[in-house]
Amino acid sequence: MLAQTNFDITQSAITRKYLVRTPRSAAQYQSSCRFVAGGHSRLAGFWPPHPLTLEGGQGTDVDDIDGNKYIDIINNYSSLIHGHAYPPVVEAVGKQLRRSTAWSADNVSQAALAEQLAERIPAVERLRFTNSGTEAANLALAIAREVMGRRKILMSRYGYHGSVAEFHDGAVGHSGQFTLIAVYNNAVDFERMLAAHGNEIAGVFIEPMLGAGGVLAGEQGFLASVQAAARQQGALFVLDEVQTFRLAPGGMQAQLGLEPDLTLLGKVIGGGFPVGAVGGKMEHMSVFDPSNLRVLHSGTFNANPITMLAGEVALRHFDALAIDRLDQLGSRLKRGLLGAAGRAGLPLTCNRLGSLLNVFFMSEAPPSAFDRTDTRAMELFHLAALNHGVFLSNRGFIALSTAMDEAIVDDVIERCARAMADVMDEL
Ligand code: PLP
Repeated sequence: MLAQTNFDITQSAITRKYLVRTPRSAAQYQSSCRFVAGGHSRLAGFWPPHPLTLEGGQGTDVDDIDGNKYIDIINNYSSLIHGHAYPPVVEAVGKQLRRSTAWSADNVSQAALAEQLAERIPAVERLRFTNSGTEAANLALAIAREVMGRRKILMSRYGYHGSVAEFHDGAVGHSGQFTLIAVYNNAVDFERMLAAHGNEIAGVFIEPMLGAGGVLAGEQGFLASVQAAARQQGALFVLDEVQTFRLAPGGMQAQLGLEPDLTLLGKVIGGGFPVGAVGGKMEHMSVFDPSNLRVLHSGTFNANPITMLAGEVALRHFDALAIDRLDQLGSRLKRGLLGAAGRAGLPLTCNRLGSLLNVFFMSEAPPSAFDRTDTRAMELFHLAALNHGVFLSNRGFIALSTAMDEAIVDDVIERCARAMADVMDEL
């Protein structure tokens, strides 16, 4: 999330160009505001002067309703691992669409997707599906409280586990009554909090990297120390791999030598459809055993046949080789963007983990995206990149897809170079 703007973005040539290119999107936004609170049901779907209205996409590209085409380098905030309208998913889901989309009984794809995930993640023996990462975090909260008989949660400052009321108290930036906060990458801070409140803490929720916080990696040994401290106090260690599952065949936990009690999943595992999941050892997931039910969990669309099928197909095509290729593309993009910024005379840093990147127009990466001081440059670059046909997030977050190749990445770099030149003209 970007800090509030304190300058008028409409007073720039970049914005004027954006307005000229996107009149239909502007009109659509006005229409949406008549009935949709805030104009869109998603925080990330708004940016000034108005968000784009897209009407579709194919592979690496998306189209807006004004007839502009963009190379998509957000991929729905990292969930579209294969890009838009991935043919194997379209084919499988297309057949299923004609045979109904939801029913209140089992479907064969649920077990197939669960099996794939359990095979990839040793700490996951059983899963429960939801419709979003947010719901998965809420469910893990309920499991931790039930299993531990405790109420409090410890999470990291600038950690993001979705729109979870307990973690954010429904208000921007405020944590809930039972939520304690420690500083990411500061194991001592987590240990101190756990030592002080250990017997009240049901679970420690943490990401392998601060995702929304700016693709900031957990430092060597940090997450293992937090896991050990949580165990010592009998709190569940809940690892949020909603974003990071795409970075290694079994998520980042194997690479980091972690064995979480609960794992949160989402995004890519739905093959482009709404999804979330909580996974863990039998010991904890037995709270859903119908013969001794301890946590209520239902949902009209949970594990619906469309999402399960799409996820199953998408994951089958997402293996170590694909992850490796994406890592190389990510490295190429980072190198190219740094080179372009250097040539334009703009300061740029780029945090990167595999196919996930976050750019900052600052000579040093800030401790988190919430500490960035480049709001003006970032907002201008976002609109300038859109003007040059690159669809990226207004906070500089980038997520690549397997639909991309080196030529596409080079094209993105070239367009971004032109956008940077536009920004330089205005700073
Ligand atoms: N956890 C992490 C690490 C996320 O990045 C997100 C979403 O960006 C969520 C949870 C919430 O997932 P969803 O947006 O599907 O509710």
